[in-house]
Amino acid sequence: MNYHKFDVVIVGAGGAGLMSAMQLAHNSSIAVISKLYPTRSHTGAAQGGVAAALGNQEEDHWKWHMFDTVKGGDYLTDQDAAEVLAREAIDAVYDLEHWGLPFNRTPDGKIDQRRFGGHTRNFGEGPVRRSCYAADRTGHMILQTMYQQSVKNQVNFFNEYMMLDVLFNDGQACGVVAMNLRDTSIHVFHAKAIVFATGGYGRAWRITSNALACTGDGMAVAYRRGIPLEDMEMYQFHPTGLYKVGILLSEAARGEGAYLLNSEGERFCIRYAPTMQELAPRDMVSRFIYQEVAEGRGIDGKDYVYLSVAHLGKERIDEKLPDITDFARTYLGVEPYYEPVPIQPTAHYAMGGIPTDIEGRVVVDEQNTVMPGFYAAGEVACVSVHGANRLGTNSLVDLIVFGRRAGKHIASKWLPEADYAPLPNDPDGRAREQVESLLGRTRGEGQDAIRKELRDMMMDKVGVIRSEQSLTEARAKLVELRERYDGVRLMDTSHTFNTELMEVIELGNLLDCAEATIAGALARRESRGGHYRNDYEARDDVNFLRHTLAYHTDQVGEPELRYKPVVITEFQPKERKY
Ligand SMILES: Cc1cc2nc3c(=O)[nH]c(=O)nc-3n(C[C@H](O)[C@H](O)[C@H](O)COP(=O)(O)OP(=O)(O)OC[C@H]3O[C@@H](n4cnc5c(N)ncnc54)[C@H](O)[C@@H]3O)c2cc1C
Repeated sequence: MNYHKFDVVIVGAGGAGLMSAMQLAHNSSIAVISKLYPTRSHTGAAQGGVAAALGNQEEDHWKWHMFDTVKGGDYLTDQDAAEVLAREAIDAVYDLEHWGLPFNRTPDGKIDQRRFGGHTRNFGEGPVRRSCYAADRTGHMILQTMYQQSVKNQVNFFNEYMMLDVLFNDGQACGVVAMNLRDTSIHVFHAKAIVFATGGYGRAWRITSNALACTGDGMAVAYRRGIPLEDMEMYQFHPTGLYKVGILLSEAARGEGAYLLNSEGERFCIRYAPTMQELAPRDMVSRFIYQEVAEGRGIDGKDYVYLSVAHLGKERIDEKLPDITDFARTYLGVEPYYEPVPIQPTAHYAMGGIPTDIEGRVVVDEQNTVMPGFYAAGEVACVSVHGANRLGTNSLVDLIVFGRRAGKHIASKWLPEADYAPLPNDPDGRAREQVESLLGRTRGEGQDAIRKELRDMMMDKVGVIRSEQSLTEARAKLVELRERYDGVRLMDTSHTFNTELMEVIELGNLLDCAEATIAGALARRESRGGHYRNDYEARDDVNFLRHTLAYHTDQVGEPELRYKPVVITEFQPKERKY
């Protein structure tokens, strides 16, 4: 057995994983395991910015930020967590600045800030400049800055190692099992604390902004080991993906003043959201687009509308939105200086995930019982700060605030009192069996059709609009796909960089995430945030102001569902108007 021992093992080298690592690097032995080279993590694709009420451009307060986060989340947000997010965002952004992140600046040298969807002044009066940014490559800068700092602080990286399993013993987390992609060798990492920071699962949908690696591995591995998944039905579609390819055109464009236009040349958002217009939250703007298309005002009668930036002028476009306008040129052959860009909603962000408390500790039931030594942060986690819908620029804040909290809690509270739990018997048994059975199978179907059918099914039946019928069909399809997956066969059975093997394991993880998403969505007979049911169009606080917890069972498509209350401290649920 390939055996490694560290105080802390962090799985994932995106913004959340590296932020945790930075808190621990000085005083403990830590390893960061990543299936990608760290700077290829999806955090590097984040464009628009990171929210913090610095008030550099106009008056702003963390309380306003907290309120916007709660209201944006359609009141499913846990308000204790939203308070931490908004308060600590300010310090966390200054940490990044001090580590050398090249933010855009105001003329007097402060961090520049711009508008973003759902961020308002004075509890909803109008848009506010809250997003700190580095052109339209904020995530890239965050990732590069933190990776450089991690290298400087001698963090041990295990790059291109894919985590396959998490280990518990004596009532605490004690390790993970990973496969080295170079040679498919299996490695056991023994640790006192484990942090999952493995990101989201947008690849479950046909049209998505997410990178190829966003396959929900951390969620699926935890789920199969009995950890529940929270609010998985809350999945966000971002309104402005490039037509057909899904690549994101950041909300920063609308923050800078871009419009959405229908086939009649009308700025339709004004009709739906008179105050915030194009800067209403994403779940709403995605539905506005859906509605326009349904009523025949899509461009050329098709399922897309236009995003227009031309009126901003070349200079502003080049200074503030260089990358995303290049995407339009490269992928659609459209010149945004003069032409409107075809866009459609794209699967973007998981509000749900592994449940944690505000210290980043994983909790396993309705009573928030902690699983000692197990932490999660970033998109894989559900703290739950985004509730039913995340505001733009609030994910990068989530990474740095809760990544930092998890790291600090481990360093100051957990490590001083914790010891290693012994590894369970045959610690790598499950992982070895998974890999060996895939490599050894000589008959069966390839993965491609299963993957395609899963992504089509999720897009068409578990997308922006859902119903009892579409979700029931989705569940039946999932059961069929899982059965086919269990007999899937690889074309490549080699042991050197076998990317097909990696993809097949990822596909299995996507199926598990889809299962929890569909089950939560079927049971939630209301519309709230990113979850819209055309058979139950109203929000129903009496029955559904609660978090879903989905537990894996042996019955495919039928996780056990339990519920826990939402933490409400200051803001009573109200109707959302923008
Ligand atoms: C195109 C795009 C633009 C965005 N723009 C913004 C924005 O402007 N502002 C904002 O706030 N949010 C934005 N978001 C959302 C935000 O970027 C993500 O939610 C966030 O970066 C996720 O970070 P993370 O650290 O949780 O995970 P990621 O950055 O996705 O990193 C996941 C890490 O886990 C590792 N990993 C995964 N599975 C395994 C495994 N099985 N074994 C080992 N390692 C594994 C990967 O190698 C990777 O290092 C954007 C998202 C996208 C897709």
